[in-house]
Amino acid sequence: MRYVSTRGNSDLPEFCDILLGGLAPDGGLYLPESYPQVSATELAEWRELPYAALALRILQKFITDIPACDLKSIADRTYTARTYRHCRPGRDADDITPLTTLEPGFHLLELSNGPTLAFKDMAMQLLGNLFEYVLDKRGEEINILGATSGDTGSAAEYAMRGKHGVRVFMLSPEGKMSAFQRAQMYSLPDENIHNIAIRGMFDDCQDIVKAVSNDAAFKAQYKIGAVNSINWARVAAQVIYYFKGWFEATTNNDEQVSFCVPSGNFGNICAGHIARMMGLPIHCLVLATNENDVLDEFFRTGVYRPRRTAETYVTSSPSMDISKASNFERFIFDLVGRDPAVVRELWAKVDAGGSFDLNGTPFMARLQDFGFVSGSSTHADRLATIRDIWQCYDTMIDTHTADAVKVAREHIESGVPMVVLETAQPVKFSETIVEALGRQPLRPSDFVGLEDLPQRVEVMDADADVVKASIVKICV
Ligand SMILES: *Cc1c(COP(=O)(O)O)cnc(C)c1O
Repeated sequence: MRYVSTRGNSDLPEFCDILLGGLAPDGGLYLPESYPQVSATELAEWRELPYAALALRILQKFITDIPACDLKSIADRTYTARTYRHCRPGRDADDITPLTTLEPGFHLLELSNGPTLAFKDMAMQLLGNLFEYVLDKRGEEINILGATSGDTGSAAEYAMRGKHGVRVFMLSPEGKMSAFQRAQMYSLPDENIHNIAIRGMFDDCQDIVKAVSNDAAFKAQYKIGAVNSINWARVAAQVIYYFKGWFEATTNNDEQVSFCVPSGNFGNICAGHIARMMGLPIHCLVLATNENDVLDEFFRTGVYRPRRTAETYVTSSPSMDISKASNFERFIFDLVGRDPAVVRELWAKVDAGGSFDLNGTPFMARLQDFGFVSGSSTHADRLATIRDIWQCYDTMIDTHTADAVKVAREHIESGVPMVVLETAQPVKFSETIVEALGRQPLRPSDFVGLEDLPQRVEVMDADADVVKASIVKICV
């Protein structure tokens, strides 16, 4: 399998060549040259497979430059009941992503049972094992530099902790994350994990990462890498649970399922789009946003209008507080018939701070063929939904999942099961749970007392040179 850039660069790298990088050299995002197809026979054979075996079948279609036995060992190590043990009482951790049925035809797919209680573990845990494998093979090292406002940073640290050849430098805005999120990251004792709290906002952290990455000499000398949401391997890992969820919600291969996905950077739902392009019988992909409704606006109107940072709302589903969706270019590439010239033209506008409008183009009509519908949700909707699901089904959901449940209910079609992707556990966002339910969220037993553990973090000014100096100090 070879990979193309959405902006049309001519070299066609393989999976391991793009694993450790981010953007393609031309500024585009990588996608498979063509989507591998899943036959009816394969679907029938895969129905009863355990998660790791299913993962192997799917990953083998995307990864042809790692021998099958090595890939199998990576998949077996990644998807274990031990890693995904934080499931609801009565659920089976062996399922990795258990399905909770709220009522017939309306389900939650639990993606947040991993080490950091958010769905980002599903992809990041695989990435950690793939990185270690490829770096060992090549005798190389990498220093991952990232910025986080919460879920991504902790998922990356838990995936990379103790891995050979990998160090993580994670920047977070001082005092801006929840006590639980801070404790998750800063209490890690592993020597290869370095937490840096920046005196500033999340955007300052991101600017520092950009400044360091733009210093080509420093980047090369200190082998700076990233694990951000445009990483192709993360998207590929997310394709797996659409298959798993589809199997769990159906009894035979002629049934269709709709998935509702709480969306920010369009990474999660992009994996659903790819599963559908591979032939998985997905009826609708229902995209849910919070007040930051850039993507909902696009699917309703055909206008993609990234917001300015100052126009971005701070909400109670903070992992969806985005001003533009970094993976969206992948979907548009498919929508415009994979013509990189059109993508370059559209993103020339986006990269210059503008927007684009597909009305009046042939692509508007094709939008329907891809199965997307959308909706958005507010803080009041989240509170009402969390309350309702708790009262009706005795099930506690987090704020992001609540956004999706609210929107999913607006798109139910009779005879088509709806699967809502549950992207985090309520304990990560306890303030809003208390506001909705008047009680503390449930806390998996391993996390009792988390906030009391000793923490390791260095506080620094929002200055790229200071951060660089600290990387240099640690790397000598
Ligand atoms: C990251 C995240 C999302 C958004 O996922 P995207 O892939 O960016 O669309 C939704 N919910 C939670 C809890 C997250 O951490």
